[in-house]
Amino acid sequence: MTESEPSSQPSKKALKKAAKEAEKAKKKAERSALLEQQELELRQQEVVDDSAAENYGEGDNFYPQTAIDKWIQLRNIEEHEDRECVFRVAVANTRSQSAKLAFLTLSQGLESIQMVVAETPEYVSRPMIKFAVNIPPESICTVFGVVKRTSEKIQSTTIQDFELQARRIYIVSKAQLPLPLQPADSEGPLPLEDKAPTTEVSQAQPLVSLNTRLNNRVLDLRAKLNHRIFLIKDGVDSLFQEFLRSHGFIRIHTPKIMGAPTEGGSSVFRLDYFHRNAYLAQSPQLAKQMAIQSRFPRVMEIGPVFRAENSNTVRHLTEFTGLDMEMEILEDYHEVVDILEKLMLFIFNGLNERYGKETELIRKVYAVEPFKLPAVSNIPRIEFSEGVKMLREAGETLDDYDDLTTPQEKKLGQLILEKYNSDFYTLDQFPTAVRPFYTMPSKKNKSYSNSFDMFMRGQEILSGAQRIHIHDLLIERIREHEMSPDSDGLRDYVEGFKFGCPPHGGGGIGLERIVQFYLGLPNIRMTSLFPRDPSRVLP
Ligand code: ATP
Repeated sequence: MTESEPSSQPSKKALKKAAKEAEKAKKKAERSALLEQQELELRQQEVVDDSAAENYGEGDNFYPQTAIDKWIQLRNIEEHEDRECVFRVAVANTRSQSAKLAFLTLSQGLESIQMVVAETPEYVSRPMIKFAVNIPPESICTVFGVVKRTSEKIQSTTIQDFELQARRIYIVSKAQLPLPLQPADSEGPLPLEDKAPTTEVSQAQPLVSLNTRLNNRVLDLRAKLNHRIFLIKDGVDSLFQEFLRSHGFIRIHTPKIMGAPTEGGSSVFRLDYFHRNAYLAQSPQLAKQMAIQSRFPRVMEIGPVFRAENSNTVRHLTEFTGLDMEMEILEDYHEVVDILEKLMLFIFNGLNERYGKETELIRKVYAVEPFKLPAVSNIPRIEFSEGVKMLREAGETLDDYDDLTTPQEKKLGQLILEKYNSDFYTLDQFPTAVRPFYTMPSKKNKSYSNSFDMFMRGQEILSGAQRIHIHDLLIERIREHEMSPDSDGLRDYVEGFKFGCPPHGGGGIGLERIVQFYLGLPNIRMTSLFPRDPSRVLP
């Protein structure tokens, strides 16, 4: 049997079917062309009929020079009652009530206000209302509106006693939908593994993971909660400077690119520096001491600190902001402890005075207790050996000269809170063995050192000490730490002590940790604009 060749000619039936389909497609095309034409005519008609066509649109060149209050900040809205004003805002959401009425929620910084877009013969047409309702959320607009006092408080916006009556609305930058993250979702708490969020906000909003938030950080940061965090962070930064300047400190800037590791090699990032190795500074420690050697009696620094530690915890970053200070000592290293305790209280009280409202709003989202503070003279200052005793009495087993583990630090914080009613305290006279080579041993017992840490809510935020200023003792201690005083990283620093250097001491504080523990936030990454950790270097 031979196989028959497939015919190259289509059958009659197939031809008929194809003709039928072609006819169908033609009719469909004609119909949609007709519809398009009708829609176009309708739109043209609308434009012709639209008395308000000039009062809305897209682009950034619609600024009629009328006698109005220009570029008003929402926080100053009260001063403009019954006046027509121009604002630059972001559209948070839009709501259509009818063809004649719509509402927009507009936001600017930490403020938000309602705009009523109601049909009027002079300013607002129905096409304009349709346009307003279709503005994608997060678009940036220039809006003109009359500021009106409301008869009832508006609950959904921060400005509750005023609203805007729309006159003109222009989209300056249109947001493209869909957004990968709704900024409003970042107003709520993080989904926590160990602590169920209990606030009203959490019930109303979906819980978005920290990773999703950080992957879309620009949208995440728009949340007012985040703006408040960074306002407070800026507050800490400026209070730190204010206090120390008023106590005779000047701000210095030490290099962050180093020719050699200075404090041991394991936690240092190496980089390629014109075909040789260089390193990112793990702290400004040696450089700020060299400023003391250079006869600057009191110095401070605010700068990045890099740690190549694979610490995946809620309080470690690989890049954080160090608040550092170093000062001459006249009689006793407690001069440094005194200044640092006063500095921390100045920061806490300053935050309380300047950002009380913002702090309360953030703590409410995370159901955090207020930060308990004693008067300056009553800050608990406890010797390490006493802390060990308290922990043992509470059932912990630990050796005299061991460093505290993180759970032990937290436990001691709890014991001190119960005993002294303070969320802030100093632990003094650490064992010499757990501190760096430059730490001055104590005169009365060399197993302890003139060094201290400060804690907030039971977690370390500050490390400080008197430093060794005696050349030969320093060399001895460097060798005990199995390092070489002649190494590139140490040579110039060590030599500086040969030429006369006063006793001195200082401390380093993590800016992000202060913000985290003051507010009681669950993760340090929330306090860093674009956080860096072992698994995150983007965005
Ligand atoms: P920890 O024991 O918590 O890792 P540390 O003893 O290494 O801290 P220091 O080198 O003494 O810290 O640094 C001084 C301060 O800098 C700390 O008290 C802390 O506030 C902050 N800090 C240190 N390491 C980090 C980090 N990886 N991320 C954020 N802040 C840090």
